[in-house]
Amino acid sequence: MKALVLHGPEDLRVESVPEPGVVGPGEVKLRNRFAGICGSDLHEFRRPMLTTAEPHPLTGAQLPQIPGHEYSGEVLEVGEGVTNVRPGDRVAVMPLFFCGECPACMTGRQQCCVRLGAVGMNWDWGGMAEQSVVRSHQVAVLPAEVSDRAGAMVEPAAVAIHSVTVGGVRPGDAVLVAGGGPIGQLVVLAALAAGAGRVYLSETSEPRRRRAEEIGATEAFDPVAFAVPARLAELTVEGVDVAIDCAGSGPALADCLRAVRRGGTVMQTALHTRPVELDPRELTLRDLTLRGANCFPIDSWPKVIDLIATGRMPVEKVITGVTDLDSAIDEGYAALLDPDAGQVKVLIDTR
Ligand SMILES: [Zn+2]
Ligand SMILES: [Zn+2]
Repeated sequence: MKALVLHGPEDLRVESVPEPGVVGPGEVKLRNRFAGICGSDLHEFRRPMLTTAEPHPLTGAQLPQIPGHEYSGEVLEVGEGVTNVRPGDRVAVMPLFFCGECPACMTGRQQCCVRLGAVGMNWDWGGMAEQSVVRSHQVAVLPAEVSDRAGAMVEPAAVAIHSVTVGGVRPGDAVLVAGGGPIGQLVVLAALAAGAGRVYLSETSEPRRRRAEEIGATEAFDPVAFAVPARLAELTVEGVDVAIDCAGSGPALADCLRAVRRGGTVMQTALHTRPVELDPRELTLRDLTLRGANCFPIDSWPKVIDLIATGRMPVEKVITGVTDLDSAIDEGYAALLDPDAGQVKVLIDTR
């Protein structure tokens, strides 16, 4: 079968690889449909960090790796003991593996497991191929209202919803989202779904600002041209209730801290690639809460799928391009790494 295979830094190839064999107990074989290219896939392409060079402690997988942790598919075959899906079901994949035994797992925070792994990073299979095998706990059925394309958006939408939930966004709240990449755009949708009154976006790219306004952001600002906290102080009573850093830059986090009202919450959703300076007096003197949110709770899929099925999370509006396995490196990876290409979320049609 055809697959994208990551061999090492900047070494991603379209290859022919053996199809999965007969599935084992508790496993599900999928005909993959659409796979999203995520910011973390771009990081892994440039320098594999999460994709392990040595065997992963839970799964034994290591480079070379088929990427793709955001994807939909159709069930081809189920192993012994699998009762939640059957052949022909359309599903979205919840990519995480966890040990079930560490303190994080035992307290229901499997996404922070000490041995966390993911399909497409630490597993023999991934979404960027014609077929894959996953464990039965990793598939959730898509109803007819949720397309295969939307199914590939469930994973990043789950990240966005977790962020908005942990941030405590409530009906009528004013929210700032810093960064208009795929997660930032989905956080705009998630905040609106949670009932936020106004959702502002700060983003340097003009096409991304336009897209955010198209999907429902109240107003999108260029943080280079505008002092975002000062502008938001004018537009709200005293600042936003919740500010969510989806940009992962020092200036974005600084803007978030200054843009929230007294007693407000700043969410750290983006993964910064280097330490940043922050003034802890901002937290103390203004009663602020600074919180992190990693991935999503592993039971998120039914909720996210319901929000998509009922039209309250129109995730397909965030998709800016669709390519295929043969063209994915140029039209997907390279286009997303080019700031002038104006892409937000590119899906790979694996058919
Ligand atoms: Zn992702
Ligand atoms: Zn664990």
